[in-house]
Amino acid sequence: MLKKFTINQLLFISHLMLVLVLIAGMSASRYQSEWDSRVNYATERAERALTRLVRDFSSAVAGRNYANLMMPSQKEALVSIGELLFLDIEGTSDYSQKHVGVRYSREHMTVWRTDVTQDEIADVNARKTKLMASLDDPENQSEVRSRKLNFVLNKTNDDLKALQKSLRLSSVIPRWTPSRSPDIAFQLKPDEEILIVQLPLINKNGGNIWAVFDASNLFILKQQILVTLAIEAAVALFVSLLLIVGVTHWLVAPLSRLAKRIDHDIEYLDISDLEELRRHDEIGVLARGLHKLTLKTQSQMKILRHQSDTDALTGLAGRHSYVKRAESFLHTTRAENKLFGIVVCDIDHFKAFNDTFGHARGDEVIKSTATAILNALRNDDLCFRIGGEEFVALLQIENADSLEAVAERIRSSVEELAIPHATDEAVVTLSIGAILIPPSASAWSFSDAFDEADSLLYRAKRNGRNQIAIGAVHDQQITLSDDWDIDANDKLEEVEKVDLK
Ligand code: GH3
Ligand code: MG
Ligand code: MG
Repeated sequence: MLKKFTINQLLFISHLMLVLVLIAGMSASRYQSEWDSRVNYATERAERALTRLVRDFSSAVAGRNYANLMMPSQKEALVSIGELLFLDIEGTSDYSQKHVGVRYSREHMTVWRTDVTQDEIADVNARKTKLMASLDDPENQSEVRSRKLNFVLNKTNDDLKALQKSLRLSSVIPRWTPSRSPDIAFQLKPDEEILIVQLPLINKNGGNIWAVFDASNLFILKQQILVTLAIEAAVALFVSLLLIVGVTHWLVAPLSRLAKRIDHDIEYLDISDLEELRRHDEIGVLARGLHKLTLKTQSQMKILRHQSDTDALTGLAGRHSYVKRAESFLHTTRAENKLFGIVVCDIDHFKAFNDTFGHARGDEVIKSTATAILNALRNDDLCFRIGGEEFVALLQIENADSLEAVAERIRSSVEELAIPHATDEAVVTLSIGAILIPPSASAWSFSDAFDEADSLLYRAKRNGRNQIAIGAVHDQQITLSDDWDIDANDKLEEVEKVDLK
């Protein structure tokens, strides 16, 4: 599956995944620590605001002193704690062991008792009835007495109203449900955006304060943290993407450049200008290694080519080179509007020579003959050893006379070596067939030309050997020398027209 991807894609995907995992991990842990510190700070602030009230509340609960708990200054103190929405004080009096409960609601701007019982209201009612009866008593008609009774009756009325109001408020104003566990000092409720803080009272019989704070600011901060983290993550991702693109470009682009450059015929490869060669990293090492390998291979190929192109015995170009170059030589000659000459030479009765003098001496003769042929040619002429004792010369020639002169020079130079042959007085000689192809004979292929020269060679052999047979193509016909079978040294003057094909 991974093999389907290019190195570039793999690097990109793996880097991207790594970056995403890192960014997600870091953002999550940053969010957690930021959020925790904000919550801790909000909780500490809430606790600090309440701590200074705990002592007052505790002593009021200890003495069941509702006046202290509910006096206006206490309410103002609670109102001054801006974010306090609700306060619930529950405790047990130290002296009467009675339950004491008081609440504050910012929404209703009021403080009321939550421990009011029907019995207590009935007691106050009874007291009120008793006071009213006392007022009606003729014994209490004195002005001072009556004023005192009225004062107490008014106060009792106020008490009764306060008790009834507390009872009503307790049933009307719902209570925020505090945490059930006393171990949890604070509780954050995201749905209602509130923070509930629980503090213990310090009176002997104990109790608790539950305070509900408005935490909407905290949740606005939470949004800000998330937005900040999202921006940071986006910036980190963008920078990472730039780095990823940079790295893949820095690593993969040179590799593909290198791959593209070496995807050519190694023989003609030249990567010496490749900028990767100057790099100091592994890609540089690879590029230099490839460059070295290319140069080494090219030099080895040169040697091999030279070996395969050159005949080891004579040093002349061999058969392989002949096959490669002969055809193009004809084309070049034709393109330059010059005459093309092909001279095919074969040592006469060479088998007999080998049989008489041995193969080693035969090799010597092939070498000497090759040197003689080469010396009889001009610098621009090409000479090949195309078989055991067969040689071919390719020439750009001026006319038939020149071709004949060259062929004759070759023949005579070998004869003049005067290498003794098998029979007495005989020397090693060559038979030669040569043909001239003018540019006008464009229908003649190289192989046609060779075949005709070879036919002429065998004509020379048939006519007694040690002689030359020269032909020239004229109007698609071969024009032959007519005296070539009489004397090899004769000139090509008179000609007969023969179709050799
Ligand atoms: P012809 O005049 O008709 O060409 O007769 P020939 O004996 O030269 O021709 P043939 O084709 O019968 O024999 C060629 C001989 O050349 C056979 C072989 O022993 C010899 N020969 C071929 N290559 C080499 C070589 O590399 N070294 C030696 N010493 N002899 C070779
Ligand atoms: Mg032969
Ligand atoms: Mg021969």
